[in-house]
Amino acid sequence: MKKCVWALALLLWMTGCATPAPNPSPSDDLRPARKAKNVILLIGDGMGLTQISAGLYSNNNKLELERFPVVGLHKSYAANSLITDSAAGATAFACGVKTYNGAIAVDTDTNSVRTILEEAEARGLATGLVATSTIVHATPASFIAHVKSRQMYEDIAAEFLQTEIDFFVGGGKKYFDRRETDDRNIYQELEAKGYVMSDYFQKDFDKVKIDATKNFGYLTADADPLPYRQGRKYLKPASEMAIEFLEEHDAADKGYFLMIEGAQIDWGGHANDSDYIITEMLDFNQVIGAVMDYAEKDGETLVIVTADHETGGYAINPGSRMGRIEAGFTSDYHTAAMIPVFAYGPGAELFAGIYENTAIHTKMRRALNFERNQ
Ligand code: MG
Ligand code: ZN
Repeated sequence: MKKCVWALALLLWMTGCATPAPNPSPSDDLRPARKAKNVILLIGDGMGLTQISAGLYSNNNKLELERFPVVGLHKSYAANSLITDSAAGATAFACGVKTYNGAIAVDTDTNSVRTILEEAEARGLATGLVATSTIVHATPASFIAHVKSRQMYEDIAAEFLQTEIDFFVGGGKKYFDRRETDDRNIYQELEAKGYVMSDYFQKDFDKVKIDATKNFGYLTADADPLPYRQGRKYLKPASEMAIEFLEEHDAADKGYFLMIEGAQIDWGGHANDSDYIITEMLDFNQVIGAVMDYAEKDGETLVIVTADHETGGYAINPGSRMGRIEAGFTSDYHTAAMIPVFAYGPGAELFAGIYENTAIHTKMRRALNFERNQ
């Protein structure tokens, strides 16, 4: 009996102390050879090394990620758990702080921490978010809103009025215009603020015309957008439109920050559905290809591809062959495996090595030369 109590106490102590002080990494002090004008951060939610491998072997042994010259690994854990969620994971990238699971751009004391998107906006860069989840879901939310819990979707929607984000595409229209917590219509408030707003009720995404002199928002679904295999098609065209828009919108020629999320790789992992993972992975792969085509021509854009965490404890088991994955799963939640980081363009060299997930924030700021004039 006593032994059980001690074992329990030890277990509680261990889970409470999941986060020792981070180790310094050799890449922490690197300076970029050349400043990046633009940063495009692509987050494949739940995209661990196995998700990438399964996409590769299901796609004739080819992935756009093979075009990246620099590969690193990040440690994905959160402040209060070795197993991060997407809120703490995205907050690490957006704000450079380890926080608790569920936190949206707030620290462990629930104080707001400025995001790289907000800082980019304040410095005169153009900004954008594109996601295949709702736009108020944890990953995109952590770049624009500050709330103590990721479930506060309507509060997150209202915070789109606080930051002058220039371009956003994602689902979740009901959190803007049919709210349960108040009678506000954030969709109309954004229009009143000068946004050109549109949604899937009015027109398909491919019929939308952009006016780069205004800000732009398009809501792709009432709640969660469909999976790719059920007909969702907008991630690639929306990402290409975002780049074109931000280039034009950036009248002062200061550059832009764009985050693009392949959100549903994670949902395939939670569902322990290998086909769902692979189809989302290959949709995301096409977007990576389009972004790389642009960045290679542009020459001033730093492209980073990573994930917040792995989902599913996904494994490619014996019996698999090229084009046919025999999948195994150890969990219907996230795991703590280190996560690959792929970088291309000015400042890409900063992303080699092994480092904390929060270092991605520091490295992006350094590449953009934000550190020089604080
Ligand atoms: Mg996400
Ligand atoms: Zn998840």
